[in-house]
Amino acid sequence: MKDSKDISIYVHIPFCVRKCLYCDFNSGKYPDYMIDSYIDAILKEMDENREVFSGKSLKAVYIGGGTPSSVPPSYIGLIFDRISDIIPIEDDTEITIEINPGTTTDHKIKDYVSYGVNRVSVGLQSAVDSELEALGRIHTYNDFLRTYDILKENGIKNINVDIMTSIPHQTKGSLLKTLQEVISLHPQHISAYSLSIEKGTPFYEMGPMRLDLPAENESYEIYKLTQKYLKEHGYSRYEISNYALESKDKGVDYRCRNNLRYWNREDYIGFGASAASLSGYRRYTNISDLDRYIREPGRHRSEDMILDPKDAMAEFMFLGLRKTEGIRFADFLNEFDTDINEVYGEVMRSHVESELAVISGEDEDRRFYLTDRGLDISNEVMCDYLF
Ligand code: SF4
Repeated sequence: MKDSKDISIYVHIPFCVRKCLYCDFNSGKYPDYMIDSYIDAILKEMDENREVFSGKSLKAVYIGGGTPSSVPPSYIGLIFDRISDIIPIEDDTEITIEINPGTTTDHKIKDYVSYGVNRVSVGLQSAVDSELEALGRIHTYNDFLRTYDILKENGIKNINVDIMTSIPHQTKGSLLKTLQEVISLHPQHISAYSLSIEKGTPFYEMGPMRLDLPAENESYEIYKLTQKYLKEHGYSRYEISNYALESKDKGVDYRCRNNLRYWNREDYIGFGASAASLSGYRRYTNISDLDRYIREPGRHRSEDMILDPKDAMAEFMFLGLRKTEGIRFADFLNEFDTDINEVYGEVMRSHVESELAVISGEDEDRRFYLTDRGLDISNEVMCDYLF
């Protein structure tokens, strides 16, 4: 296994103004007094894990949620103070914060910039107000536009906009409106996730009929339209649901470095309730219960396992194949000291024969990646890489 000197940090802020109707993340509305003790707990967890960062180089920081912009920015400042206390933040460390319209002010963004934030991810979801309302979001499209203006006025040059497809009342026409509106703003990155109805959410209780979801065939057309439209407008799909602006300036790569590290199985350490970490073959996740996390931060895990090499290989494949560039044979060899053909040769060949995947390139550049058809049914394809 390669000895990685690089690391990234994820910090989970679970606070939101209100719980959206489809959301099954560890997030929601909590009493204000909990914010202070929760941030304290995060600082403590960081402090107790400082040895993990010794000799490492910090490639990315991601403050996610929840809605990080719903808490007073001074708390975010405390988190950055602690991060820079345990590991140097480098000039080119990608530092992202997730924000939501309706919770963002000029003052907050100025503070984030002063903490070193250089990338902002905004949860728009839709440019159609009736769709936002159906999702239970707190903002309108105009709120998003005001937020976007604030980001531009504060010189944020790397912005992601989250949109959501296959949502209640959505049609190809309404999706097109969302895409047109977003593209007119030229964000550097767009994430387009399909709504999935998760158990325990109000959407799950309501059921598909009451939700007025697009029919299956329309949903597929919406998914395809998203890909086609974004491609035509200069956004390169680099992962199943993620698109980055193809920069004309050489050397500028707008793909999310934090997420790429996740898909590449590179080490990351998560802080906060339900935050996940990967350190070599060890994968662990903090408990989601906020009260328990606050009492004993980082002491209780909902999952803590040492993967055996075969499980790590399977992860390497099904995470790596989410990327449109797929996986490099040389990376597999470097990671596992094993020729990929010895483990997956047969299944890769069968996917190539079924036109679900392609093998291309020579030597160091030899790669295996899914075709559009393979990506369309990626859940089924990935199953073939499990043992
Ligand atoms: S704002 Fe995001 S994290 Fe918060 S409830 Fe809504 S979808 Fe979930």
